[in-house]
Amino acid sequence: MSRILIIEDEEAIADLEKDYLELSDFEVEIRNNGDDGLKAGLNGDYDLIVLDLMLPGIDGFEICKEIREKKNIPIIMVSAKKEDIDKIRGLGLGADDYITKPFSPSELVARVKAHLARYERLTSSQAEQNDIIEIRGIKIDKTARRVWIDGEEKAFTGKEFDLLTFLAEHPNHVYSKDELFREIWDMDSIGDIATVTVHIKKIREKIEYDSANPQYIETIWGVGYRFKI
Ligand code: CA
Repeated sequence: MSRILIIEDEEAIADLEKDYLELSDFEVEIRNNGDDGLKAGLNGDYDLIVLDLMLPGIDGFEICKEIREKKNIPIIMVSAKKEDIDKIRGLGLGADDYITKPFSPSELVARVKAHLARYERLTSSQAEQNDIIEIRGIKIDKTARRVWIDGEEKAFTGKEFDLLTFLAEHPNHVYSKDELFREIWDMDSIGDIATVTVHIKKIREKIEYDSANPQYIETIWGVGYRFKI
């Protein structure tokens, strides 16, 4: 559930915004002055902020600027005056959207949803660009297809890399050799499940201190292998 922070001193407006957002299943908190709003925005765990411009204490300009320096969550700025919106745009404070009072609560909800969806796409594409698995001493960069053991890079063949990554991505799950063969090798590739055993042995030589007593890829006798977490 996404969490929204409303910083708004007019109680009736804040309550209306809160009601509508809660109807759309958002979790909402209100701060009714600039100082509390800034503190909550900086320290709280929110997914989006609806920020009024004119507030007792620190104003919306300053709050937007300070939060933007620390966080990249969407900020929707609200103002009673069209001129203020132009001013905010001109200042380039990093707000994502601007809305003039009076506005319909359903319009606010629509904008909140749009910005959350955009932000989610943005953060998930960033995560894909830097797709790294780290389990104890092992670090796997899936994008660059590189592996480090205790900070030292090790070379893996394509299939060794695929097999290690697959197991590391599903830790504590036991896979049979059959399942691993089907998962990693194409159906028409030459070889059989003994290929899996050979590859596991080679991976262990690279990642384990003692292949006979593996710390990462464990043999479950009569069943298969699992990556211990
Ligand atoms: Ca106000």
